[in-house]
Amino acid sequence: MEEPRISRRHLIGGAAAVPIVAALAACGGDDDGAATTSAATPACDDGDEVTQEQTEGPYFKPDSPERSSLIESGVRGSRLVVAGRVLDTDCRPVRRALLDFWQADGDGEYDLEGFRLRGHQFTDGRGRFRLETVVPGLYPGRTRHIHVKAQRPHGEVLTTQLYFRDEPGNASDGLFDPALLMAGNRRNARFDFVLT
Ligand code: FE
Repeated sequence: MEEPRISRRHLIGGAAAVPIVAALAACGGDDDGAATTSAATPACDDGDEVTQEQTEGPYFKPDSPERSSLIESGVRGSRLVVAGRVLDTDCRPVRRALLDFWQADGDGEYDLEGFRLRGHQFTDGRGRFRLETVVPGLYPGRTRHIHVKAQRPHGEVLTTQLYFRDEPGNASDGLFDPALLMAGNRRNARFDFVLT
């Protein structure tokens, strides 16, 4: 008597290959910043893949300055831009989401006295962010990574770390999680956060 309910997951899972690819491209962030190709409310899977949490590590400092570029005089390392979006679990862009980044410099050193390579920013009206920084250097025991805290307005803080593809140290780092790999390369990387 009652029609079986079909979830959006089933619809997507049962669809032809082309829509699946389109959905992944829209939500996966491999479009290299080409926002013109992304609908405001992109097609997406059921959104159960909330961004994985990771340990904060010993080097977080609160009260970082608000800035999208961490490049300033004296910062060592090769330039890197990380761009992407913050989405909710229905793949809707989250505007005014807070992203607080901190990382080592190109020599693998954290600034524990000041705020070098530390900064927070808020996503724009389409949930987008853009971080200008340097490629973090390696330090003992860890593969290359960027720390970040993400929080939607009035939401919970998600603490995690972002990783680089084709990094030899990934295989031997016990914290490394392939779900947190950035797309792109060491000059232009992309990552989309999904928050509950
Ligand atoms: Fe670290």
